[in-house]
Amino acid sequence: MSLSPKQSLKEELVELDKKHLIHPTSNMKQLQENGPTFIFTEGEGIYLKDIEGRKLIDSLSSLWNVNIGHGRKELAEVAKEQMEKLAFTSIFNNWSHEPVIRLAAEVAKWTPGDLNATFFTSGGSESNDTAFKTVRHYWKIKGQPEKKKIISRKLSYHGVAMGATSATGIEQFHTFTTSLAPDFHYVDSSVDSLKELIEKEGADTIAAFISEPVQGSGGVNLPPEGYFQEVRKICDENNILFIADEVICGFGRLGTNFGIEQFGVIPDIITMAKGITSGYAPLGGMVISERIQKELIDKTEGNFWHGYTYSGHATAAAVALKNLEIIKNEKLIENVNVVGKQMLEGFKWIQEQNSNVDNVRGMGLLGAISLEKASNSAEPIGPKIVAKALEKGLICRSVIYDGQDTLAFAPPLIINTNQMEDMIAIVNESIQAVK
Ligand code: PMP
Repeated sequence: MSLSPKQSLKEELVELDKKHLIHPTSNMKQLQENGPTFIFTEGEGIYLKDIEGRKLIDSLSSLWNVNIGHGRKELAEVAKEQMEKLAFTSIFNNWSHEPVIRLAAEVAKWTPGDLNATFFTSGGSESNDTAFKTVRHYWKIKGQPEKKKIISRKLSYHGVAMGATSATGIEQFHTFTTSLAPDFHYVDSSVDSLKELIEKEGADTIAAFISEPVQGSGGVNLPPEGYFQEVRKICDENNILFIADEVICGFGRLGTNFGIEQFGVIPDIITMAKGITSGYAPLGGMVISERIQKELIDKTEGNFWHGYTYSGHATAAAVALKNLEIIKNEKLIENVNVVGKQMLEGFKWIQEQNSNVDNVRGMGLLGAISLEKASNSAEPIGPKIVAKALEKGLICRSVIYDGQDTLAFAPPLIINTNQMEDMIAIVNESIQAVK
């Protein structure tokens, strides 16, 4: 029997993938046994299609990033236009170009307070490493080079560059390799833990505290009531800079421009990526306050000795500008507040239907359902629910770090109320199916 062209294409791709491709944050043995879980071919709105012709709701916006949905022709057009005109040139050595200037000015309109100057990168990890180096440089030029420790929270995710890995508070990312960067310290999510660490290490050795407004990859963990107001106060009292990692929460995900605004505080630095381009081009950045910018300008001798080839990539910047225009014009943040409320109500309804649901939570279009563990030795059921959801046409993520058994959701910001109903129904049926 001869294979159909589609089957033979799939088989060819599976073999090539297994032989030649190293997948990020994936199980290498499973890949060799089963091949890639999906080979995606197309995307439109909240849906992805794979090579088998399966149409699936992308309830995590791929990697919490395809916020304006898949298949937006406007972004393709802007990228083509910019590539034809000037795809790339350096902005090292004070060179510049219009897309990056316009994007920096646009970002300043989105950010709170006087966070008005941006250094661009290609993603979240680079943005966080940039922030760690910048805060250390900042204290050095202010005559306090010993202020270099970075404090982060357990279960935080800040990326996989050397500094970002070291700041990440998820054990698996540390034990994967042998040595980490020095001068990173971790606190749990209580204000007391932060106070104790500052007391122990000494404020004069600490450069900055970094936190996601709502932890994403660590299981969609909301901060305790009043946490960030207290953190802001403690940072001010101890001359510690406060970095908000807005890589997931930025650009509307929580229902405000930046997630930290939900908690009524203004950080000194914001790091961002993902939603700034909705994944249509790799781009991230670090935004600093005017106060920090002024110190850097006044006191840096010689160069700002930090820069990626793709800092301020012209095509990525043009794509970001169009993406931000779409978020504004289509009033997507208003949509987040409507459909986000529906999502949380839906999760509460799911909890009522299913005795094995322990806890549901959410803010804007970032949400989670935590499952009860039958006993300490029991296998987590999240992965089985994810597999069931897949059969029913929905992709979602299971998070099982640190003994939790959680399903995470971050649908595209364009999701409408009917689509949210579908999503909730499938999640509920999938949980019921594996009881
Ligand atoms: N910070 C946060 C909060 C993230 O969620 C991520 C990515 N999931 C990163 C940083 C790292 O970003 P990137 O993968 O673009 O390097």
